[in-house]
Amino acid sequence: MNIILLGPPGAGKGTQAHHLVEARGMVQLSTGDMLREAKSSGTEMGNRVAEVMARGELVTDEIVIGLIREKLEAGAAGGFIFDGFPRTLAQADALGELLAEKGESLDAVVEMEVDDETLVQRVVNRAKEAAAAGRPVRADDNEDSMRTRLMEYYKKTAPLIGYYHAKGQLAKVNGLGQIAEVQASISAVLDS
Ligand code: AMP
Repeated sequence: MNIILLGPPGAGKGTQAHHLVEARGMVQLSTGDMLREAKSSGTEMGNRVAEVMARGELVTDEIVIGLIREKLEAGAAGGFIFDGFPRTLAQADALGELLAEKGESLDAVVEMEVDDETLVQRVVNRAKEAAAAGRPVRADDNEDSMRTRLMEYYKKTAPLIGYYHAKGQLAKVNGLGQIAEVQASISAVLDS
């Protein structure tokens, strides 16, 4: 089963993806993680990407589609969880084509709904916790970048909600509440 976790930054997509990896043997494909890896490589591409990410803007479709294409090659017996991808309509079309080329399809798109103030608060707290624990703080986990990330989400990613709804693939879950409650809502969608 291949699924997309769709939702604004700070909605908890990564946390829920980790759970699905453990519980269902799925493979998480997070373009954010892949880009952060590219960034730490110190290459010219990595440095350019780092600046765009720190501002909270989206990197180009070409780069992220290329990253996903590579990872899909390897296949995943338990299926893929797309986390933070697709983020634009062009990426959504590309994903559909890449899956079709492999004779695969998308089984569900789970939209995690969380209100904006909670999102900003979560991200600011995530940065505080990381700093207190001595872990590196994400360059884009501050209030300014977060506002840009939210705006990018509403302008470029939120149209995917209508796109997948029209295809009959969209399911909404409440992203507020305890992690286990959200897990249960997502499981209910995947098992239905
Ligand atoms: P994330 O870890 O998913 O919050 O992503 C962090 C940052 O990486 C985003 O704010 C973007 O700058 C970049 N990014 C991640 N995934 C994508 C994507 N699918 N398309 C464009 N930019 C992305």
